Amino acid sequence: MIETPSVVLIVDDNENNRDVLERRIARYGHIVETAENGREALDKIRARSYDLVLLDIMMPEMNGYQLLERVKQDPEYRNLPIIVISAIDDVESIVRCIKLGAEDYLPKPFNPSILKARISASLEKKRLRDQEEAHLEDQAISQRIARELNTRLSLSRAAELTLDWAMKRTSAHAGFIARILDSGEEMVIVAVAGHSQSLQYYQNTIIPIESDSLQKAVKTILPQSSVDREDYWLTETKSRVVIPIGRGGQVLALLILEDASEARYSNRTLSFLTSLSDRSAIAMSNALLYEQVQKANHAKTEFISEVSHELKNPMTSIRNYAKMLPSVGPVNDVQQRFIETIINNVDRMAGLVSDLSDISRIESGHLRLELEKVSLADVLADVAAGFMGQIEEKKQQLVIDLPDLLPPVRADSGRLGQILTNLLSNAHKYTLEGGHIRITANLMPDERAKRPLVLVAIEDSGQGLTEADKEKIFTKYFRSPEGQASGTPGTGLGLRITKQLVELQGGQIWFESEYQQGSTFYFTIPICRPGEELAADDQPAGEGADSDR
Ligand code: ADP
Repeated sequence: MIETPSVVLIVDDNENNRDVLERRIARYGHIVETAENGREALDKIRARSYDLVLLDIMMPEMNGYQLLERVKQDPEYRNLPIIVISAIDDVESIVRCIKLGAEDYLPKPFNPSILKARISASLEKKRLRDQEEAHLEDQAISQRIARELNTRLSLSRAAELTLDWAMKRTSAHAGFIARILDSGEEMVIVAVAGHSQSLQYYQNTIIPIESDSLQKAVKTILPQSSVDREDYWLTETKSRVVIPIGRGGQVLALLILEDASEARYSNRTLSFLTSLSDRSAIAMSNALLYEQVQKANHAKTEFISEVSHELKNPMTSIRNYAKMLPSVGPVNDVQQRFIETIINNVDRMAGLVSDLSDISRIESGHLRLELEKVSLADVLADVAAGFMGQIEEKKQQLVIDLPDLLPPVRADSGRLGQILTNLLSNAHKYTLEGGHIRITANLMPDERAKRPLVLVAIEDSGQGLTEADKEKIFTKYFRSPEGQASGTPGTGLGLRITKQLVELQGGQIWFESEYQQGSTFYFTIPICRPGEELAADDQPAGEGADSDR
């Protein structure tokens, strides 16, 4: 570790005194500056940073007391140690100086050994205090960097932030961050600052690592390269720092800083850069993992979407042929029951496949909604008509209570139908024979959204939910272990999909439920304002066509 010399300011109006002190202190290895009075000293203190002031008291213009007062009142210089060396050695003035914040008091003429000891004690105290302050400051910055780095799981964002902080802290002229590819022989520049166009041009293209110093930085994984072309440096670069950004023994990227001057970074700066690269390594490896998860998710979505597409045709065919069987010849009662079982199971399978396809589309942001002006009453009437058979079979009572003048809503009619189907189907499934189901819809103002909403409620007198069920009701594949859910067909995906569909259309969903008393599921959907044009931009969901619902 290289010790940087301390800078000492001597303030005395007597030239002879100044010279004696100056020579002596220079001999201790410090840099010395002088001032003739308090005023000049104050100007100097404001202009550069000192480690210690040796101060006389009786001086023209601004005396030692006044300077002490001014310096110690200023939060910026409060920690600057001041040793008073004065011929006045009455107790009162010593006490006054100490009260004003002087570090120490030495009588004139001073004893050289005592002076030397006091100076080194003060400087050591100051060094420790500075170190402590620097440490606290670095810690605060480090925490801020960690927070910033972890806000988004993006490798390029992490690289840009890292480079930005490194440049700010070092005042380097240029720099870049290169991600080392798995082979260890190639890199991709992911962030550039201060470089000419040519390096920016290389950004995101794979380039071989040919520079000796870069290879040294990744020597653990890099084989020797025969070529040594240093294309990446600024022509005027005089000094360069290469810091590997690594985790678990693997170098993920390199942080390279270049300076047009012979910059020499202090130990503090180097330790800042090391801690920055450690934090950056965590953020980058998280971003890389996230990238991999995203890719795997994408592959899963593609797979599910292809499989569900492929399954649709054979399922339709099984269903149609099973339905046609009675028309090609007589079937007895047992055969008829078998046919119904086939059709019911194909329908269940179709529901499952469609749920799986929906959930993967929603999660990958590939569900596209066709928002239009829709009559909630019409969609609800269609959905209810489809359920009448099952509801009557279970001797349940369905009441639909809508006001006469319900404004049209802004929705995807197919998806709105799906929401109502899921909620009505659940109300029907999880309510005993003879139970009640009631559907209402009302206009409610939403102050926050400045767009009125329609509130739909589906109430049942069914089995209700336990406290434990309530926590998990919207999670994927959740089915209550209680009551009929275990014996009722279902996938545990319906409510999850319903929640996402409601939210994608600008609404919210929630419920109230009492175990063995019944449940009410509520959802909101925005109204369509009179004369409102529904542009393509209004579509809230991700890209990609939703061709095979
Ligand atoms: P599924 O009905 O296919 O099981 P859902 O996601 O629609 O899947 O519902 C998840 C679980 O929530 C159901 O299995 C059931 O236990 C519970 N549930 C949903 N709606 C109701 C309801 N109206 N009353 C009681 N329990 C319900």
